[in-house]
Amino acid sequence: MMTVDIVTIFPAMIEQPLAAGIVGRAIERGLLDVKVRDLRDFTTDRHRVVDDVPYGGGPGMVLKPEPIFRALDAIAAERGGALTVIMTSPQGRRFTQVEAERLSGLQHIVLLCGRYEGFDERVRDRVTEELSIGDYVLTGGELPAMVILDAVARLVPGVVGDEQSVAQDTFSRGLLNHPQYTRPATIRSTGAAGERDLGVPEVLMSGNHAEIRRWRKREALARTLARRPDLLDAASLDEEEERILRELRELQDGRIEGLQEGKAEE
Ligand code: SAH
Repeated sequence: MMTVDIVTIFPAMIEQPLAAGIVGRAIERGLLDVKVRDLRDFTTDRHRVVDDVPYGGGPGMVLKPEPIFRALDAIAAERGGALTVIMTSPQGRRFTQVEAERLSGLQHIVLLCGRYEGFDERVRDRVTEELSIGDYVLTGGELPAMVILDAVARLVPGVVGDEQSVAQDTFSRGLLNHPQYTRPATIRSTGAAGERDLGVPEVLMSGNHAEIRRWRKREALARTLARRPDLLDAASLDEEEERILRELRELQDGRIEGLQEGKAEE
């Protein structure tokens, strides 16, 4: 069981999506305990103000530190023990599958959702780590908190029914997933290439499990080599995969040499 506290000024942005799908079912089944905390509940003034103008001037508003400190004190008192406090921020370390795996091993995390120009710098005094979901700026930390929670939750044992499927997913071993097909065996499509019938690779319907496994390895490796060669350095490959990858690289080199020869003849 993992517990997650999310601090936000827009609780509805979190509560609605949490009710659906695999994460919703995990909460129902008691595998996850998620509490959404309205930052305004930790203000002490009549207008429940959470932001203020920046010292030194300039555009926008900054989230005040006191309500956040009070929220963290309340969470610490309720949960007991030291808190792992994660600040969502475009300035943070990049959130990846490796980070998700690490966080899924923790019993409890707090996610802070920023708004406006972000947090008063002194909030970082209470923060364990700062995570960014990518190099772009969003209007708030609610979507990043949901992204982090979703990626972490599906790694908590029991949350995704079929553990095998999690182990085979893209990134889990440092490779992109192989292509997947389901019924029907042929479908008519009008795509960029015009109207035609799209089939399913013969091997997948052959019933030959050794062949299917090999085909999937090859496709996963070919895809990773074509789209994300950067992943291959850190990927953990078995002997068969190492051999397939060598073959694919030789083919690739052969094609490039072939192209260069073609050019020379022009
Ligand atoms: N002025 C800030 C950006 C504030 S964006 C700066 O330049 O760093 C408002 C809030 O949205 C942030 O406090 C953070 O909680 C969230 N946010 C925006 N982009 C994000 C990203 N790429 N990853 C994680 N959180 C992000």
